[in-house]
Amino acid sequence: MSNERFTIRVEGLFESAHYIRNYLDDGSDEPLHGHSWKVEAFVSSTSINNTTGFAVDFYSVKKELDDICNYLDHVNLNDIDPFTTINPSTENIAKWIYHKLQDRLVKKKIKGHIEKIIVWEGPRNYAIYEKSTQYEEKRKKHEEF
Ligand SMILES: [Zn+2]
Repeated sequence: MSNERFTIRVEGLFESAHYIRNYLDDGSDEPLHGHSWKVEAFVSSTSINNTTGFAVDFYSVKKELDDICNYLDHVNLNDIDPFTTINPSTENIAKWIYHKLQDRLVKKKIKGHIEKIIVWEGPRNYAIYEKSTQYEEKRKKHEEF
């Protein structure tokens, strides 16, 4: 087991509208509005490819993330799968991108483990999605102090 890890970060952007269903006090929907969304994908590996010197290939990961962001670009997120049935909250978008990107990395045999996905809803607010095992380990470590 390697005791080192390399993590790369790739960034994707999309512009789209959304609203949160059943958000207001009277049970009605939030008004439709738009955001400039930013996605950060952190992908790691514990070893380097001897030929390229890469732990994770930026270009390959970026291409997959761009495809995913293109799907989300210039739409009302509430109108596209899976957000026709689940609310397109920043958290749900981050989770969906994580799983989409993971599927694509596996299918295309792109080496790398997704550490976390951060989705920025505009310049100030973001949500992080990471798998609960990683989260639990970090939380336990934190609680030891
Ligand atoms: Zn919003």
